[in-house]
Amino acid sequence: MKFRTRAIHAGQAPDPLHGAVMTPVYQTSTFAFNAPDNPGEFDYSRTGNPTRKALENCLASLEHGTHGFAFASGMAAETTILMLHEAGDHFIVSDEIYGGTYRLMMNVMKNMGMAIDLVDMADLDAVRAAIRPETKLLWMESPTNPLMKVVDIAALADIARDHGIRTVCDNTFLSPYYQNPLDLGVDLVLHSTTKYINGHSDVIGGGVVVIDEALAERVGYLQNATGTVPGPWDCFLVLRGIKTLALRMEAHNTSARSLAAWLEQHPKVDRVLYPGLESHPQHELACRQARGHGGVFSLFVKGGIAETHRFLGGLKLFSQAVSLGGVESLIEHPWSMTHAAMPEEARRQMGITENLVRISTGLEDVEDLREDLENGLGR
Ligand SMILES: *Cc1c(COP(=O)(O)O)cnc(C)c1O
Repeated sequence: MKFRTRAIHAGQAPDPLHGAVMTPVYQTSTFAFNAPDNPGEFDYSRTGNPTRKALENCLASLEHGTHGFAFASGMAAETTILMLHEAGDHFIVSDEIYGGTYRLMMNVMKNMGMAIDLVDMADLDAVRAAIRPETKLLWMESPTNPLMKVVDIAALADIARDHGIRTVCDNTFLSPYYQNPLDLGVDLVLHSTTKYINGHSDVIGGGVVVIDEALAERVGYLQNATGTVPGPWDCFLVLRGIKTLALRMEAHNTSARSLAAWLEQHPKVDRVLYPGLESHPQHELACRQARGHGGVFSLFVKGGIAETHRFLGGLKLFSQAVSLGGVESLIEHPWSMTHAAMPEEARRQMGITENLVRISTGLEDVEDLREDLENGLGR
């Protein structure tokens, strides 16, 4: 079945009790056994819950995997995956990653005895050079945040597989509608379902999809052992959001492309970073491994911090907020918002300057968005 059909039906069937077409919210912590030695399909909601199961099966189907797992947040999903490892293990992690992932790796996992190297994943030789006998995990994200760098997922998965290294790809920015890392050879796909998958800025959630039976068993065991699970109500909301994922992604993609192309020509804009533009250095790679480019792009305002703040302050439709992937357009200033905790030198080295802003294109009329940006930039 095609994506749109699976988004609406995978993992979901009319409720056997009353025929409810929408998966009911099984808001219960525990389930009655038939007899002491005979539980039903579910016994306790940390271990499993029918609403969560529907979401997990739907996620698995959309990401071309065999097993899906839902979590209380993207970070809960990440934490659980990292628990597959032990002290002494070495991780190779993209040097451009989501800030929360950076914090979890550097401030939490390191203290637990894992060794971590941050490596430019676009440089395959650097990745090969970073491999040690104790390397167990390679963690990538594509496109990256906020500089929209695209990395060759299949090539990285190949290198890792040759060395028996497990791979994780954070697919939050493109969603399964545009990119399926399992098809490119990755072992685990990770999502912050908070973003496009739920899509309405009203849930914090995470998801993991795998295709290997033994790995699925381990992740399922850890999900229950660590208790990093979402409640049934959040699962219901994410399931509802998923039903329109294809339509939303198409619209995010179309509007982002149109705004990015227009901004690229604007006299008050220095440069636009969007893999969907031909000017993007990895445009070809982006088109090869993904079917679209999503709704997030970044731009450098001409000038410095004053011009950038004036631009942000002049906007009415775009809320200044972190996060992305919702129906409403958001704009953020990495220098003072998402990446403020990073030392100034590290920010500059990464390419995050005072005049960089990141936009999450929402589903408003694109003409209204363009007009708002035009007013903000000033003629
Ligand atoms: C938001 C985000 C996360 C973390 O997810 P939460 O749901 O906020 O815990 C991880 N990776 C990426 C790329 C994100 O955008």
